Amino acid sequence: MPLPVELLDKIFARHCPHCGYKMEKLGLWFQSVHRYRCEGCGQKLKMTYPEKVALFAAYGGGTENLAGSDLATCGRRTGNIDAG
Ligand SMILES: [Zn+2]
Repeated sequence: MPLPVELLDKIFARHCPHCGYKMEKLGLWFQSVHRYRCEGCGQKLKMTYPEKVALFAAYGGGTENLAGSDLATCGRRTGNIDAG
């Protein structure tokens, strides 16, 4: 099951399990990476293939409902969303 090529030039975010640092990289980078070092805490992190698939899927990879969501203009109540 290949990763969806249409997402390779999109930006994905992954949080460090140790320090919560939000790392943002291109799909292309995630596709080729196996291990990397967290830019926040310096821990060595692994990224397995299933994790890549899950990350891409979370951003709409493999689904058909990517372009149809235009609900962003429905009110501006953006608060401080704490994803901790
Ligand atoms: Zn970290």
